[in-house]
Amino acid sequence: MAKTHNLGFPRIGAQRELKFALERYWRGESSLQDLTNTAADLRRTHWHQQGKLDTVPAGDFSFYDHVLDTSFLVGNVPDRVADHQDNTLDNYFRVARGRSANDTGCQCVHAGEMTKWFDTNYHYIVPEFTAQTTFSLHAENLLNQLEEAKQAGVQAKPVLVGPVTYLWLGKEKDASNKLDLLDKLLPVYQTLLSKLAEKGVDWVQIDEPVLVTELTPEWQTALQTAYKALSQAQVKLLLASYFGEQAENRQLAQSLPVDGWHLDAIRGRGDVASYQEALGDHQVLSLGVINGRNVWKTNLDATLEWLEPIHQSLGNRLWLAPSCSLLHVPVDLTSEHKLDPEVKNWLAFAHQKLEELDILARALNHGRQTVQPALDNNREAIESRQQSPRVHNPKVQAALAAITPQLGTRQRPFAERIRLQHEQLNLPRFPTTTIGSFPQTRAIRQTRLQYKKGDIDAATYQDIMRKEIAHAVEKQEALGLDVLVHGEAERNDMVEYFGEQLDGYVFSQFGWVQSYGSRCVKPPILFGDIERPKAMTVEWTQYAQSLTDKPLKGMLTGPVTILNWSFVRDDQPRAQTCNQLALAIRQEVQDLEKAGTKIIQIDEAALREGLPLRRSEWQHYLDWAINAFKIAANGVSDETQIHTHMCYSEFNDIIASIADMDADVITIETSRSDMELLDAFDHFDYPNDIGPGVYDIHSPNTPSQAQIIGLMEKAAARIPEERLWVNPDCGLKTRQWDEVIPALENMVAAAKALRE
Ligand code: GLN
Ligand code: ZN
Repeated sequence: MAKTHNLGFPRIGAQRELKFALERYWRGESSLQDLTNTAADLRRTHWHQQGKLDTVPAGDFSFYDHVLDTSFLVGNVPDRVADHQDNTLDNYFRVARGRSANDTGCQCVHAGEMTKWFDTNYHYIVPEFTAQTTFSLHAENLLNQLEEAKQAGVQAKPVLVGPVTYLWLGKEKDASNKLDLLDKLLPVYQTLLSKLAEKGVDWVQIDEPVLVTELTPEWQTALQTAYKALSQAQVKLLLASYFGEQAENRQLAQSLPVDGWHLDAIRGRGDVASYQEALGDHQVLSLGVINGRNVWKTNLDATLEWLEPIHQSLGNRLWLAPSCSLLHVPVDLTSEHKLDPEVKNWLAFAHQKLEELDILARALNHGRQTVQPALDNNREAIESRQQSPRVHNPKVQAALAAITPQLGTRQRPFAERIRLQHEQLNLPRFPTTTIGSFPQTRAIRQTRLQYKKGDIDAATYQDIMRKEIAHAVEKQEALGLDVLVHGEAERNDMVEYFGEQLDGYVFSQFGWVQSYGSRCVKPPILFGDIERPKAMTVEWTQYAQSLTDKPLKGMLTGPVTILNWSFVRDDQPRAQTCNQLALAIRQEVQDLEKAGTKIIQIDEAALREGLPLRRSEWQHYLDWAINAFKIAANGVSDETQIHTHMCYSEFNDIIASIADMDADVITIETSRSDMELLDAFDHFDYPNDIGPGVYDIHSPNTPSQAQIIGLMEKAAARIPEERLWVNPDCGLKTRQWDEVIPALENMVAAAKALRE
């Protein structure tokens, strides 16, 4: 009998209950008891909803982040919160976000750094290490959850971040080597495992996703040391890896003395055959056969074809699960009442994925005929998706096939183009501009909501948005900026806005996925060939340009960013989907140019986010991603100036690709790095214009003229000044007008002073 289990369930709640409970608590509007009650309710609900599984996860719930939970579990709490003598949860929130509910004024401490969890859009709080770091066990939280699970009547398997992955995820705050901490950390895990054994726990899932990354020999040794130590435990260990193939780490992983392995059988299927061979009589192999990273139904027939022989050979040593924790997918499709029914029938969110798992297990254990109706339904859905003309558009396919290298190449080199552009634009030295958005005020958001609800008609909506655009243009003229923008009042979100106007996209109502803490994103769903039925931004841009004699930038989101911030198809390579997006954006670029737009900015905020986990795969990604950007951008005449923008990003290791994009101007976030990020551009002799951000838009503080001049002087020490622009770090949509105006006044004054 193949057994079913799950690696982790979305904790935020189908209606984002946890988000709202957290935010109420942080605002001081509810008690700690209210918050912990909501959390306990959610856990109970989630276990109940996973009830068909043989084993459910426990300890996967988190008030903010499971890596931060691990830091608290092993007693690695930063000293800066040690003075706070209230409860643990408040201290936990202080590390997570700099303060807790009752903190006022100077009680704030700086929050832990946050970074991406492997190649997902989930962000964790980075563990902090020094040579002095010590560890101690604080298992109350985990043990309570296990007790709750017992009361809920489910068979629970505790889930832990493995010790090696925990160290790997953290950062040394001094010159020490975090690997030296392993010897101090392991006894805590050992004690924890014996505590779990005392509680009658049978299996523990221990996550070591580092196994799918490129590991140096030191890290490989650390895995050996760790699992040798943990193998003494009286519980059985299921060592889980996911998000890719173990590849060259496979032999090492197989040599570890554990009782079972979980593999990502979607992205790491290449590992499976070898495990099947190597598996001992008392070991289990858990195969992650349901994709935990996308929203599509599984092809159950095909999966069964593949699984049946494996089941035959492994029997009850085979376990089935989603490929990874379901944290990365929305909770429940059944709440989607507005979704296009045809597309909805192709989708599966967390609940539906667990149902698929159940069907697979029953088919294996009792024969396919016992679940025939379910298999038939699934086959119909899969076939309908494979054949739908809404997915496959011959026109788009033809355009894709017609892509040539010329499509992505400007006619003249930058040095010649920039001369033509200078003649036509006539900008001063150190030209000033902004990144695109101006404050999204309450009034703007309310108008959009009213329009969405049908309370106001399209004409009224357009009228109000035009007034907002006129207001933004007027303010920019008064400020004396050189290159203006329309301000993006009409845009809800830089990806959704374009997705909504492209064929091939649908939008869920409740498809929220946790990004960090209480923050969730609702990625649009790209299901079919991408076509642009009509221009998306030209009218707004033309209108804005009609209000001013200054050049006004057309503002677009690039294909790579649209791709990386969407749920995308699994029936063709990402590169192909990206090229389709590129062709649609290219049409928009060309339409803007035809309408007289002389400067067009194409934002690629998420370019770096798409880098694969393994460095050996980076170049391949960069090649197709950069090429897609070039297809989108470079179909213009040499007189037209192309800008791109990237948010905070390391450039050192990708600078050659950035240069290859050949954007005439790149604006980047640099102010918080004191312009040090420009070193990469300097060392590479990056040839084109650069606008290093001089003003941290994340902070409400107004940068002074002197500060801005200081930053620009640092920039000019690295980049020839005739190639420098002056602009903020990023868009201003989250700020207030009364913050933006003085900051930009100082910025413009600084640029004027620099010119003199
Ligand atoms: N043009 C966008 C804006 O100004 C860019 C946002 C971003 O880079 N994240 O808001
Ligand atoms: Zn940005």
